[in-house]
Amino acid sequence: MHKGAVSTARHRQLLVAIVAIVFIAVASVLAGLVAGSIGTITSTADRIDDRRATHAAASALQALRKQLGATVRDNAYWDEAFAQVSSDARVEWTYENWGSTSADYPLYDTAIVVDGHDQPIIAYRNGEPMEISPDQFFDGFDALLKAARQTSTADAVPVHFVRSLAGTALIGAAMIQPSTIDPAMKPDAFGVLVFAKHITPDVVAEVSESFNIAGLSLDPLPVPGRLSAALQDVSGKEVAVFNWPSEAPGTKSYAMVDKNLRMAGIILVLFLCGIGLVGGVTIRNLQASESRARHRSLHDSLTGLLNRAGLIESVTGALARAKANGSTVVLHFIDLDGFKGVNDAWGHAVGDELIVEVARRLKETMPEDAFSARLGGDEFAVVTVEDPHQRQRTDIGQDIQAALASVFEISGRTIEIGGSVGVALSPSGSVETGELIRRADVALYRAKDLGRGVTVAFEDSFDDESSRQADLEVKLRAALSNGSIDVSFQPFVDAKSGAISGVESLARWVTETGVTISPEVFIPVAERSGLIDILGLQILRKSLEAAVAWPDITLGVNVSPLQLKNPRFVAQVKSVLQATGFDPSRLSIELTEGVLISNPDQARRAIDGLKAAGIKIALDDFGAGFASIGTLRQFGFDRMKVDRSLIVALDHDQNAGAVLQATIALAVAFDIPVTAEGIETEEQAMAVRLSGCDALQGFLFSRPISAQEVTALYFVDREQPASLHRSRKAVPQSARG
Ligand code: C2E
Ligand code: MG
Ligand code: MG
Repeated sequence: MHKGAVSTARHRQLLVAIVAIVFIAVASVLAGLVAGSIGTITSTADRIDDRRATHAAASALQALRKQLGATVRDNAYWDEAFAQVSSDARVEWTYENWGSTSADYPLYDTAIVVDGHDQPIIAYRNGEPMEISPDQFFDGFDALLKAARQTSTADAVPVHFVRSLAGTALIGAAMIQPSTIDPAMKPDAFGVLVFAKHITPDVVAEVSESFNIAGLSLDPLPVPGRLSAALQDVSGKEVAVFNWPSEAPGTKSYAMVDKNLRMAGIILVLFLCGIGLVGGVTIRNLQASESRARHRSLHDSLTGLLNRAGLIESVTGALARAKANGSTVVLHFIDLDGFKGVNDAWGHAVGDELIVEVARRLKETMPEDAFSARLGGDEFAVVTVEDPHQRQRTDIGQDIQAALASVFEISGRTIEIGGSVGVALSPSGSVETGELIRRADVALYRAKDLGRGVTVAFEDSFDDESSRQADLEVKLRAALSNGSIDVSFQPFVDAKSGAISGVESLARWVTETGVTISPEVFIPVAERSGLIDILGLQILRKSLEAAVAWPDITLGVNVSPLQLKNPRFVAQVKSVLQATGFDPSRLSIELTEGVLISNPDQARRAIDGLKAAGIKIALDDFGAGFASIGTLRQFGFDRMKVDRSLIVALDHDQNAGAVLQATIALAVAFDIPVTAEGIETEEQAMAVRLSGCDALQGFLFSRPISAQEVTALYFVDREQPASLHRSRKAVPQSARG
């Protein structure tokens, strides 16, 4: 995995972690909310009940006071009581009515009556006379009497809690008075009635029951952790305290459902864990399938190398790193030589095996940090990175060539291929991906143009060259549309007689500005731009139209290998023959060996078609390539033309004569007549004649000349046979070297 992939994996892990954290946080917040809500419900319920109980306690105290207050008042504000208290029978009467009642009356347990000077008339407690004087028995007794005397009939009588020697009591007092008071009466004419009720355990129990306050107790002080209500004296001071425990209904309710809630919580946690687990597994699966899909989208299924998209991504990554560290990214484009032939000859299964083997060799040969790609078909790419601080590496192009040059053993077959390599460099990432790929492509194109097994590194001049080519293409298109490409003819002569035995047509292009462009320049342009079919046909037509005038000699017409790719080629040639009325047996199509090697089946089909139509086939430029006569013979050539390079070599290479001789002798042995091209000197002419060539061509005899000049020459030659050979005078001066 390279850096890009690692960082995406890290990003993904981070994402998963964040999602998990968010998930847990949301779950915790939810759990918190639920717990909080339950807590609030519980404490609110508890608080409401506490308030109710506190309120009930207060009401109970209030009720006790009111009850005692009303009792005291009812008994004291009484005409008869007033009269009796002032009479002599006051002791008996007050005892009868109040003192005795204190024995078992539920509303008070103590009854005290004092006269106008606060002297007790009677003091009874629980039906018995009190042994201790009331002001000693009850705290603040005198103050109570005073308050009672000061209370008007409209006001509530004073009632409050006090401490007594017997405990805590509720005590109330009222002045004994008639319904109408004579303002002339002195204060000492009035007695005071005092009732007291001790807050006994029975009283506490009764309050507890009537006011629904469970666990109520009377204590001197508040009990921590319990609810309480103070029993206060006349000045608001705490005398004693009612304490009771909080009922806490919320807490109790909660306790009842607590188990269920816990169970629900556990189930929820398990459920969430389940979801998390399933989610995790799903995310993992998704990641795995995503990375598989990503791998597929970036790799070639046959070889496992990167594909074009993968190459672009990897090169872009390498360039980014090169920008940072100053290294040089080197892109090699590789095109296999002769792969199509393998496919055609052995089928696609063998072709595929070969591709896999090539991929394996590339991987083996390349440095470890290099990466390889298959761009489709038989095109590969290798990217290497050169450290700026290290010595330049060995030439990778050379290594690739070497890897591809040794034979492949595929399914028991021995297959020989090779490769062309185009190289482009991006020092410190200065050339961006798209441009780098374009440069490697241009360099590869060059390499293929130069022939097999060549490595070409991109140069800036290639771009000038290709813009020149583009410019030329535009001009060529125009020249073809107005038919301004012309033909000239170069005669060849019979080796023995010297008579003209034929002519070869050669394309000629003089531009509108008068510049002559060589066919060696514009034919490749036509081939590259797809104009070769039109150009070839125009040349064929013009050549035939001119050559019908020279009925006895042959006409050689050069044909580009690419023309043979056109399935209608043979039919087109036939139709031009027909249109011009040209004898097919006089036409000789000149082919170079390249097409026979790269596309043998295609070449054979076309050659067979032409031969079936009676047309002759000549192998042009023989000896310039690598193919042996043995290989080429099977195509059934009618003639071979020995390349000028072999002739030129005669002058400076001692072995050249022997090579030439052997080559010609072999062809002759196979019964193939041989023409020698490019003869410029008598010596050369002599040498090839002796070697067995039956036809000679070259500036010695004639340069390429116009149709009119050929016509003139042709008829001179008819009248004076072998004039080219015998007398140079016959050849127009302009045509000779
Ligand atoms: P080629 O078919 O081998 O043609 C022979 C070339 O050698 C011609 O060059 C001719 O002018 C030149 N030549 C002939 N005798 C001598 C000599 O004694 N000394 C020297 N130095 N050169 C000699 P040209 O016309 O420039 O054509 C070059 C090549 O372009 C041809 O080689 C042929 O391959 C191609 N070509 C020319 N016309 C056509 C055409 O109409 N169609 C196609 N497809 N190719 C053409
Ligand atoms: Mg030729
Ligand atoms: Mg030639």
